Amino acid sequence: MKNFDCVVIGGGMIGAASAVALANLGLKIGLVELSPCHEFSAQSSFDLRVSAISVATQQLLEQLDAWHSLSQKRLCPYSRLGVWETELSYTEFDAQKIEQPILGHIVENKLIQLSLWEVISSNNNITTFCPDTLKAFTQNTEQVIVELESQTITAKLLIAADGANSKVRALANIGVTGWDYNQSAMLINVETQLPQQNITWQQFYETGPVAMLPLSGESELGGYASLVWYHQKSEIKRLSSLSNHQLEEQIMDNFPTRLGKIKVIDKGTFPLTRKHANSYQKGRVLLLGDSAHTINPMAGQGVNIGFKDVKALQQIVAKAIGNGESWSDIHVLARYEKQRRNDNLMMMTTMDMLYSSFSHPSTIVKVARNIGLMLANHSGAIKNKALAYACGL
Ligand SMILES: Cc1cc2nc3c(=O)[nH]c(=O)nc-3n(C[C@H](O)[C@H](O)[C@H](O)COP(=O)(O)OP(=O)(O)OC[C@H]3O[C@@H](n4cnc5c(N)ncnc54)[C@H](O)[C@@H]3O)c2cc1C
Repeated sequence: MKNFDCVVIGGGMIGAASAVALANLGLKIGLVELSPCHEFSAQSSFDLRVSAISVATQQLLEQLDAWHSLSQKRLCPYSRLGVWETELSYTEFDAQKIEQPILGHIVENKLIQLSLWEVISSNNNITTFCPDTLKAFTQNTEQVIVELESQTITAKLLIAADGANSKVRALANIGVTGWDYNQSAMLINVETQLPQQNITWQQFYETGPVAMLPLSGESELGGYASLVWYHQKSEIKRLSSLSNHQLEEQIMDNFPTRLGKIKVIDKGTFPLTRKHANSYQKGRVLLLGDSAHTINPMAGQGVNIGFKDVKALQQIVAKAIGNGESWSDIHVLARYEKQRRNDNLMMMTTMDMLYSSFSHPSTIVKVARNIGLMLANHSGAIKNKALAYACGL
């Protein structure tokens, strides 16, 4: 039977980053993932799932040696962020105001994952099990016995990085608090005629926001972008049944004119759920990323807070090793939840307040939120503080 210091279930962005972060501290890692990553070429089609990656996440990916390879693939830096409900309340956040060259990058999820797996393939401390999956596990005071489809392995620590419907979380009997939002999201990759690659923007409607995230590269029409259309579930269902041409017409009618002419190249729908695990720890099991928390994606923070989980765990284990403590002692592992729960909860609550405020139909609330945006636009210090927080600085 193979024995590891740590077994990570799920090799998505967060699982792969956790494996590298802990392997770099000298720990022997087993990484279990259902589906192998696909190779990348400049001709590869864009992933529908893209993320707005904060400066803090970039710094972590640099530390894990994945950033260089990612930057050689495809990513789009942006330095401005526009939000508004009515044109009068248009508010723009600018990287220059917080003395940063950029606010972040729009990156395809599959490329972040692939770049981390490239690092993993040359790391002797990581053994991959892929394609493979978790069947069951048991734990005692010393170790976790992990039964995979292919074989049984053991570890001092089991990390759940298997996403929003985490099997590890269910097997550990950790409940979640949460709900489905009334809205769904449609992600639409498009060619764009207007060049607007240095800005990402979002206009709020009572039915949900519409957003534009720039993608890199040159298309027949000009550039590329990822559009996000939040709306009631029934409307998203109707939109997803349309042909690309019919959808283009709907986008032209419903998105702000600053989008310009577009051509749809791919589309898909995603449910919006909020889930927070009632605990991030059960003995020798820790939850990271979406297995611990899924939040409303309207401000693009979901995977960024997952990467903060990874960084926190890496620092806690490093500090314990440095102090001569047993890093796998469950009291040491408990420091992870202590450090991360409140920060994650604050981000989740902020997103829920934004969601409730902007979907409220009352005229008074509408006037108040537009005045709020206008005030925010003119209150330099508060605006810059909020911006720095969103960038993870
Ligand atoms: C519409 C939408 C837009 C979003 N936009 C943004 C954004 O702009 N910025 C941002 O920061 N976040 C965004 N998010 C959130 C972000 O996508 C998630 O937070 C992120 O994908 C979570 O990463 P993860 O690695 O924790 O989980 P996942 O990405 O779900 O990865 C889980 C991995 O585990 C594997 N797995 C699952 N079960 C098993 C098993 N039993 N055995 C082995 N492997 C298993 C899966 O194959 C997968 O590779 C968005 C989310 C949505 C829905």
